[in-house]
Amino acid sequence: MKTKPHIAVIGAGAFGGWTALNLLERGARVTLLDAWGPGNSRASSGGETRVMRGTYGPDQPYTEMAARALKLWAKYERRWKRQFLHRTGVLWMASGRDDTFERGSVKMLRTAKIEYRELSAPQMKKRWPQINFEGIEWGIFEPECGYLEARASCQAVVEAFVAAGGRYRQASVLPDELENSPLGGVALSDGSLLKADRFVFACGPWLGKLFPKAIGDRVQATKQDIFFFGAPAGDDRFCDTHLPVWADHRGRFRYGIPGRDRRGFKIADDTRGPSFDPTFGERVASPETLKDIREYVGFRFPALKDAPLVETRVCQYEQTPDGDFIVDRHPSNENVWLLGGGSGHGFKHGPAVGEMMAEMILKDRAPEAAWRLGRFHTK
Ligand SMILES: Cc1cc2nc3c(=O)[nH]c(=O)nc-3n(C[C@H](O)[C@H](O)[C@H](O)COP(=O)(O)OP(=O)(O)OC[C@H]3O[C@@H](n4cnc5c(N)ncnc54)[C@H](O)[C@@H]3O)c2cc1C
Repeated sequence: MKTKPHIAVIGAGAFGGWTALNLLERGARVTLLDAWGPGNSRASSGGETRVMRGTYGPDQPYTEMAARALKLWAKYERRWKRQFLHRTGVLWMASGRDDTFERGSVKMLRTAKIEYRELSAPQMKKRWPQINFEGIEWGIFEPECGYLEARASCQAVVEAFVAAGGRYRQASVLPDELENSPLGGVALSDGSLLKADRFVFACGPWLGKLFPKAIGDRVQATKQDIFFFGAPAGDDRFCDTHLPVWADHRGRFRYGIPGRDRRGFKIADDTRGPSFDPTFGERVASPETLKDIREYVGFRFPALKDAPLVETRVCQYEQTPDGDFIVDRHPSNENVWLLGGGSGHGFKHGPAVGEMMAEMILKDRAPEAAWRLGRFHTK
């Protein structure tokens, strides 16, 4: 009888957690490690919410992947009898002058069979009078999409993994000699050595530090500020019962998630911020970004013009040069897989990434060319 391969997955964020669970479900023996725990406040998967959308512009693999992820989120919600995806819908606001992104998205949504509607400006004004649609000529509405619970779903994945017989340990892998071939084991912060047949490193913004040769600065941590504003007393127009997730992609890409759980109206600017240290960086939002966001809120959501800032968060993107993921074997280490580069849009794909990784690792399949490390040498 063939013995089960022992696979160590390092990092229990959206990418590593789902990968560990999928490997276990397909019969592997899996140990999952995380330095600070699933969805911790330093991880890129930390915080309460993430956008689930299929709109991604033309010619990319992510709309198809989002379609698969939507099915998988629903499958695990049914299985665990818990809700992670709040289907508020996602509204994309487009201007007639520069709508290549939205136009290109429509075809991709249709092909991937993600439900969508094209809306005219009058239709949007009628439906969401709390938004000022000045400069907007049409929109895409994705009714099946919305926002995901981030930290809570990462924790639920690890709980399910442990309940199904997986081994989870809170420990940090030391960045020692990981690029030596072959990798038989990894040294841990508690002084022990973890041996395994194969290793998956899904270490988010830390990936380049652990693999300076293979990855290095091809994964950059950028500081991203997030703001929560408080709506007027008794006003529920900015809660998830009355407002969808929205995105305004003209010029700067700003997006927001309506208030939930009595928290504020969340808004962020997707523009890549300055570089940031995910371990030691102090998570204080910048006054300049706040000023800019406040002006935008006052313009687009006039009733929130003088709304007080009720919370801020600082997260970091783990950004690749082209914004595409990294899914590949280590160039000199057959039994090491590198997974990351979510680049500000990876979370929603977690279940689909986990499924894909498990199939690749257990069936020795090659990763997609678009996600391989070799692409950086040819560009
Ligand atoms: C502000 C912000 C907004 C975003 N918005 C969206 C969105 O709306 N929709 C969307 O789909 N995506 C979004 N993203 C992107 C998405 O959240 C990330 O791409 C995704 O969460 C990355 O997951 P990950 O598992 O690769 O990394 P992480 O979540 O960072 O997980 C890596 C894990 O590895 C652990 N680790 C690191 N080093 C070690 C070590 N040496 N030993 C052991 N463990 C280690 C860490 O503790 C961490 O838990 C956003 C990201 C940010 C920051």
